[in-house]
This record gives sequence, structure tokens and C-alpha cells, in this order.
Amino acid sequence: MARSMPQPTLSLDLPAKLSGALWRGIKGQCPRCGQARLFGKYLKPVAQCPSCQQDWTLHQADDFPPYVSIILTGHLIAPMLIVIGGSAALTMGAKIALAMVLAGALMLALLQPAKGAIIALQWWMGMHGFRPAGRDEAAAPPLPATEAL
Ligand SMILES: [Zn+2]
Repeated sequence: MARSMPQPTLSLDLPAKLSGALWRGIKGQCPRCGQARLFGKYLKPVAQCPSCQQDWTLHQADDFPPYVSIILTGHLIAPMLIVIGGSAALTMGAKIALAMVLAGALMLALLQPAKGAIIALQWWMGMHGFRPAGRDEAAAPPLPATEAL
């Protein structure tokens, strides 16, 4: 199936900085245009943005999103574990069960935002076939056809 070319950048609201692209990815929006969903399923990005036609099959996030999610979960869950561990009202079994459920839920909740941010980072940096890189598009959008002549 032939894919249509990405939409010209002049009509797009390209992110000005990496932080803007990352924030769009974290929110699950297309990092390039911000007008459509990045994910078709929980962790499966759409093949092509329906708004700007960016090809998202080029990403290679691989195992990095789970690493990021686990690291963030570890830092966020630590204060909760201290509170749970200090509770005299809970049995040891209840404390362990509560900690496991909290850690699992937090890790799963952070997984999609982490993957969105990593896809946005790869697009911004021009990694894995994302050409032109998002930073290049944002820095120097092509001239309209009438001005280019
Ligand atoms: Zn888009």
C-alpha cells in the first residue's frame, strides 16, 4: 500500500522545541501536528497520522519505554511504600498486596506516556528513518511553491 507523503509543514503546528514534541507524545498526541491520536491501541502507534500523514511505523522504541516506566515507578512508589510500611493497621500480607497492586498499576499507567515520549524523541532527532527530523522541519519549514521559484 502506497502511503501518501507527509503534509507540507506550513499548515502544521509543529512543536518549536523538543519539550513540545515530548509533551505531545506523553499526552498520546501526534508529536508532529498534535491534532490526532498517536496510539491506535494501548501500546501500538497508528501506522500513519490521519491529520499530517506522518509515518509512525519508523519508530523503534523497543524495550526503552518499559525501562523508563519502571525507573519512574520506582521513584514514585518509594514514598508510598514508606507510608504503607509504617501503617500499623495493615497486616504484612495486606501491605505486600497493596504495594504490588500500586506498583503494577503505576507502571502500566506510565508505559504509554513513556512510549509516546520516546517516539517523539526519535522523530525530533531524526532517528530510524524519520527524515526530515522534527527539529529540522521546525527550524526551517520549506518555502511555499510560489516563493521557492
Ligand atoms: Zn500528525
